[in-house]
Amino acid sequence: HVKFIEQFGENRDGGRWLMMSDVCKHCVHAGCLEVCPTNAIIRTEFDTVVIQSDVCNGCRDCIAACPFGVIDINPLNNTAMKCTLCYDRMQSGLTPACAQACPTASIQFGPLSELRARADARVQQLTDGGEDRARLYGADDSILGGLNSFYLLVDEPEVYGLPANPQLPSQNAVPSAVLSTAGAAAMGVLGMVGLRKRRMDGFAAEARADAEARATATDDAGEEAPRA
Ligand code: SF4
Ligand code: SF4
Repeated sequence: HVKFIEQFGENRDGGRWLMMSDVCKHCVHAGCLEVCPTNAIIRTEFDTVVIQSDVCNGCRDCIAACPFGVIDINPLNNTAMKCTLCYDRMQSGLTPACAQACPTASIQFGPLSELRARADARVQQLTDGGEDRARLYGADDSILGGLNSFYLLVDEPEVYGLPANPQLPSQNAVPSAVLSTAGAAAMGVLGMVGLRKRRMDGFAAEARADAEARATATDDAGEEAPRA
């Protein structure tokens, strides 16, 4: 859904609304995908992140691992659920429903390079108009390797409920000094949804191999030792 944040001056003047679409960010380095013990969370052919409910056991590890709080439990079947960036629509060559329905094109969908160019131009337009806090959040690879849903902000990320310095739960974390520098520079109103084509195949394979190795280690540890 879309969050509205009201900002007013002391005399209730100069008010404005900040808006944030709190969809899944489809992170290039996705904590949810990294921790899922059943491989229910997959990287799709569009480099988006999707939960397969029929493979989910409802353990909720992914909820704790997501730095953006976008995963919830479906009370009907006790499995994890979140935005899929309309995986079914994309498989049919359609635009995700949020971007399709937005009447002001505040949410846009398309190839990353095109969206980034559009977003950069919008930041410049806002800056020229006197908004010196206009920045992009997640458009480059400084936040979790890049967010496939990235944002144009006009205030601190925390004002929108976005972490300035999100972290991965495991050894795949980017060095914190790099993230600190990037997070401090990120600010934000206009939401944009980007799509990175097949950038993450290598990372997804590594994450899957790590998960399988962990599962094997757990299985081995759980085996009863043969009796003499
Ligand atoms: S925003 Fe959360 S649920 Fe979405 S890919 Fe990133 S870590 Fe996973
Ligand atoms: S709740 Fe489901 S999707 Fe999330 S980590 Fe557990 S098994 Fe994986």
